[in-house]
Amino acid sequence: MKYEKEINRRKTFAIISHPDAGKTTLTEKFLLFGGAIQTAGAVKSNKIKKHATSDFMEIERQRGISVATSVMSFEYKDMLINLLDTPGHKDFAEDTYRTLTAVDSVVLVVDSVNGVEEQTRRLMEVCRMRDTPVIVFINKMDRDGKNRFDLLEEIENELKISLHPMTWPINQGKDFKGVYNLHDKNLVLFTASTKGGDENTVEIKDVADKILEEKVGERDAETLREDVELIDGVYGELKAGDYLSGKIAPVFFGSAVNNFGVKELLDTFIRIAPTPRDRQTNARAVSVAEPKFSGFIFKIHANLDPKHRDRIAFLRVCSGKFERNKYFHHVRIDKDVRFSNPYSFLARDKEVVDEAFPGDVVGLFDTGNFKIGDTLTEGEDFYFTGIPTFSPEIFKEVVNKDPMKTKQLEKGLMQLTDEGVAQLFTQFGGTKKIIGCVGELQFEVIQYRLLHEYGASVQFNHLPFYKACWLTSKDPKKLEDFARFKLANTGEDKDGNMVYLANSEWFLNTEMQNNPDIQFHFTSEIH
Ligand code: GDP
Repeated sequence: MKYEKEINRRKTFAIISHPDAGKTTLTEKFLLFGGAIQTAGAVKSNKIKKHATSDFMEIERQRGISVATSVMSFEYKDMLINLLDTPGHKDFAEDTYRTLTAVDSVVLVVDSVNGVEEQTRRLMEVCRMRDTPVIVFINKMDRDGKNRFDLLEEIENELKISLHPMTWPINQGKDFKGVYNLHDKNLVLFTASTKGGDENTVEIKDVADKILEEKVGERDAETLREDVELIDGVYGELKAGDYLSGKIAPVFFGSAVNNFGVKELLDTFIRIAPTPRDRQTNARAVSVAEPKFSGFIFKIHANLDPKHRDRIAFLRVCSGKFERNKYFHHVRIDKDVRFSNPYSFLARDKEVVDEAFPGDVVGLFDTGNFKIGDTLTEGEDFYFTGIPTFSPEIFKEVVNKDPMKTKQLEKGLMQLTDEGVAQLFTQFGGTKKIIGCVGELQFEVIQYRLLHEYGASVQFNHLPFYKACWLTSKDPKKLEDFARFKLANTGEDKDGNMVYLANSEWFLNTEMQNNPDIQFHFTSEIH
């Protein structure tokens, strides 16, 4: 394998969670261990507290348009770790789903008090679709949360994944004493600390060791012994293959804010998490070991400064070597392109890179040539597949308030939808343009950006649609007939795929029953 050494030292992953479970805190602790930051508080939470555009824009601006935190690369024990950030706010869930197509594994944070929450469920669905390996971190053990066994059961049932505890908590809340490492068979005692590295580990032979009483007290020692006996009986050894195929998720308990249990998690992560994996394209599977470069765009970030219209496209390298100033083939537009200032995200500083390897993410300046899902190669024509578009949940008609700016509006809508901010549909039997988003906040962002970046003033009229489904059929005539009878509820997406806009779940189910020759899809692949 040509770049074997480089490939084998890379791990590319994302931390995912329902907002407030502790993703930002855990990210920060990882960066402290990796030496990428020196002090706590350096990672800003990208939470949007209030539902107001101005807040969102302000936060984005203060954060240097959040590009710097989109990817954080750091080194830990000779491994190069690429941590991809995902927006916590549910209105930007699509962005998160797409980022998950660019990682090889995830760490899922669950709050021990709240258990499985809405966003946790959705994010895991996306991971399951792709058989992404998952490690679970049950956070906030210093709070009076749910019972440890109940938590495992809840996660297994609700997220439909089998778990395998790697550490086990000794009590919780104010009586939290620490965790027992089931793999290394040692005791890690809880001390609230915000610095990296210095955990209080006690080597013991196993839980029978009498030192246990001394360290955690008689009652907790007894409970731990009973728990461990039960766990050993149920779980046995973790098979790496079961984790790597996404069947079983190893579980850690800890407290991110106290930097407790994080080192166990990180050490296991670098030991078992997958190195860059092979990927599927429309033509063939691309092996990570191939000498020729290939990669795809999974995220596009706009520059919110109206004076600088350029955008940043995030490229995930899938095979071979990406090189600065070398011509690569942009498959969709069938052109050769090169990049003089590509950059990487090591130590959270943007720096120009000369080369990048599979697993790496490179930021490319873009003046409008890219859209999400675009593939770059060394000449071969293929597209990476499996980059999904999900049905939006809120639909609005775009009303142009300034007919003089029609051209600008069209350009703006095209570019914003290329970035994946929203989806654009055109209703059949008219020219009504419909924007579909996952959250209200996105409409405010679109309105703001159309005005500030393109000078186009729009208003949105709410439409009573419940979901958009992509339609396919072996018999094109069936689709034609369907469109003719349901003119007000059919249209096409930006790429000309036919969609059905359902007014309610009831209508959707009825149409599905009445049209057995038509397939209704709830996601569409960009390719
Ligand atoms: P995110 O929305 O998932 O990024 O969550 P944050 O990392 O911003 O954490 C949300 C809140 O939970 C913050 O106030 C953190 O200080 C707090 N928090 C994080 N980890 C812990 C923990 O282990 N114990 C306790 N008690 N609070 C925590």
